[in-house]
Amino acid sequence: MLLLAACGEGATDRSAAPDSAPESAPSFLEGSVRNVLLISIDTLRADRLEAFGYDRPTSPNLAAFARRSVVFENARAQAPQTAPSHASLFTSQYPGAHRIVNVHGEAPLVHLLPEKATTLAEVLSAAGVETGAFVSGGNLTRKMAMDRGFDTWDEQLDDVSDRIDALMEWMLSPERGAFFAVLHTYQVHAPYIPPADLYPEFVDPNYEGPLRARLTSYLGMSMQETWAAAVGPKYWEGMLDYDDDDVGFLSDLYDAEIRYVDQQFRRLFRAINANPELLSTTAIVVLSDHGEEFREHGKYQHDQVFEELLHVPLIVRLPPALEEAGAVGRVSTPVELLDVAPTVAELMGADDSQAGWTGRSLVPLLEDADSLPSQWELRPTFSELVVDPGPKYSRAVVFRGWKYIHTWQSNIDVTWEWLFHLEEDPLEKTNLIHSKDSEAVRALAGLRELLKAHSLQTKAKAEELGPAGAVEMDADMERLMRQLGYIR
Ligand SMILES: [Zn+2]
Repeated sequence: MLLLAACGEGATDRSAAPDSAPESAPSFLEGSVRNVLLISIDTLRADRLEAFGYDRPTSPNLAAFARRSVVFENARAQAPQTAPSHASLFTSQYPGAHRIVNVHGEAPLVHLLPEKATTLAEVLSAAGVETGAFVSGGNLTRKMAMDRGFDTWDEQLDDVSDRIDALMEWMLSPERGAFFAVLHTYQVHAPYIPPADLYPEFVDPNYEGPLRARLTSYLGMSMQETWAAAVGPKYWEGMLDYDDDDVGFLSDLYDAEIRYVDQQFRRLFRAINANPELLSTTAIVVLSDHGEEFREHGKYQHDQVFEELLHVPLIVRLPPALEEAGAVGRVSTPVELLDVAPTVAELMGADDSQAGWTGRSLVPLLEDADSLPSQWELRPTFSELVVDPGPKYSRAVVFRGWKYIHTWQSNIDVTWEWLFHLEEDPLEKTNLIHSKDSEAVRALAGLRELLKAHSLQTKAKAEELGPAGAVEMDADMERLMRQLGYIR
């Protein structure tokens, strides 16, 4: 019954959220966060970072950064794909409400953010904050109206180091006022082609399978060249016949890409640390929009809702004065990426009361990582995915250690369901959907109710946000989507 009892509270709007921010926030923050830098490392699964327990040296700089931050160990993306996940991040709405989907298929439409969906950048802009985004395009693009509220929107598919250069030039400009900056990179997204000097440390020297020769031929090319050469189908040629060694090779390359990104961040973090004014007034949020699958559940890349795809890093570093006041540590409470917008707004003192957001500010958890408001435990997390063509719809809910997935393919009217006891089976190996165990039966009934309530609420929110437009994709975007592997 606890599951059902929580349904009304956990799955509703912010109006039902625990009202802990108003008294505690002013004394804790005292206006000390003037700027926020939000870094989105596309396709980075949490379990490949040392800060999340990984035993390979993929991320020493991020690990050092995390030690001075609040690390959310249990953050989930609202969608396992770039466009809907970033739309949820920016608008604090579930995918069913904002209705942004990734561009797939041969004659795709590009969906636009509904005009009534308020973005974080709009809220901050209205509060006088300067807003700049340095993103890598593809499914994170102004063509979907993702640039709404940004004064500067610099969209270019290039190497992470070039994105960092563009960000730093804007951020470190002498006339820069209070700012909100976004950095987004596809560096660890497929095709995984890390710099050659990282091969020895990460790639199995004994691997002599068919992928080595193909991928070695890309070494030494620029990111644009490799992405043009390694267009989706070519890079994944023969994927149905890959054996475990082939998959291990791809996974090694992915790890090496993470290390490369981590190396580049060292330069960015150093620049901030070397600037006392910037350091003392800037909060830095590091996250990913979704993870990546290496055939754990039968597929590659990211179009399912298993944990390797939804569990993302979320690390928040506050200015040193707040860190010294205790805003450092690890939070195991489940949180969602749509909580980030209200968190950033509260950190910057911007009024989001009219934004109609669904997420909830994480500031109470930042303030005291060790003492947890109990209401947070009674809150489910939801993720959604629409894959078109199909269309195929997947919805996942996680609550109190259990997870339920419902997938439905409408054109053939087939349904799949999974139930996992995540606490005992974090890798989601044993589907308990037909289990007769009374605990599993009870959990399933509760999770189905939660998902049903969530669907109704999301539908109501979609109606509130009004119609979302769509436009035909232009030739430029189509070329980029082919490179990213979204059109085959
Ligand atoms: Zn993505």
